[in-house]
Amino acid sequence: MSAAGSIFTRIIRREIPAHVVYEDDAVIAFLDINPLAEGHTLVVPKRETERIDALGAVDLAAVGRALGVVAGKVVAAIGCEGYNILQNNGPVSGQEVPHVHFHIIPRAAGDGLGYRWNPQKVTPESLAALANRIRQAD
Ligand code: 5GP
Repeated sequence: MSAAGSIFTRIIRREIPAHVVYEDDAVIAFLDINPLAEGHTLVVPKRETERIDALGAVDLAAVGRALGVVAGKVVAAIGCEGYNILQNNGPVSGQEVPHVHFHIIPRAAGDGLGYRWNPQKVTPESLAALANRIRQAD
């Protein structure tokens, strides 16, 4: 966390403007300044951590609850057929703002955003060994 706070903390403090669509004690949601689609909204825990694994159960529960509420509001307002929820952790994943946030991205048939990734080839044995490593990790 920078001393001045992330750009999202500055929005939370009303130091810079944003189009806020939802707010409660622990969470704020506002329109993305560079939307991938009409209604692209960011849902942000007020507690500033870079990654979701550092956020903690209380704030994670609050942001999960708000995600459902805000997604419902976006669908009702935009009338979109569906939506993606995307959450990046670390620059290698595409994260640009080091303050946890969830993207709600409205989707429409033929919008060109795509949705399929290229899966790796794996064996059942490698999946079993990997699952074991993850179960045992702290
Ligand atoms: P990331 O790549 O970190 O997952 O996504 C960051 C998002 O924050 C981007 O979609 C970007 O457009 C958005 N963003 C960055 N700065 C601002 C800002 O000052 N205001 C708003 N509303 N959105 C921002």
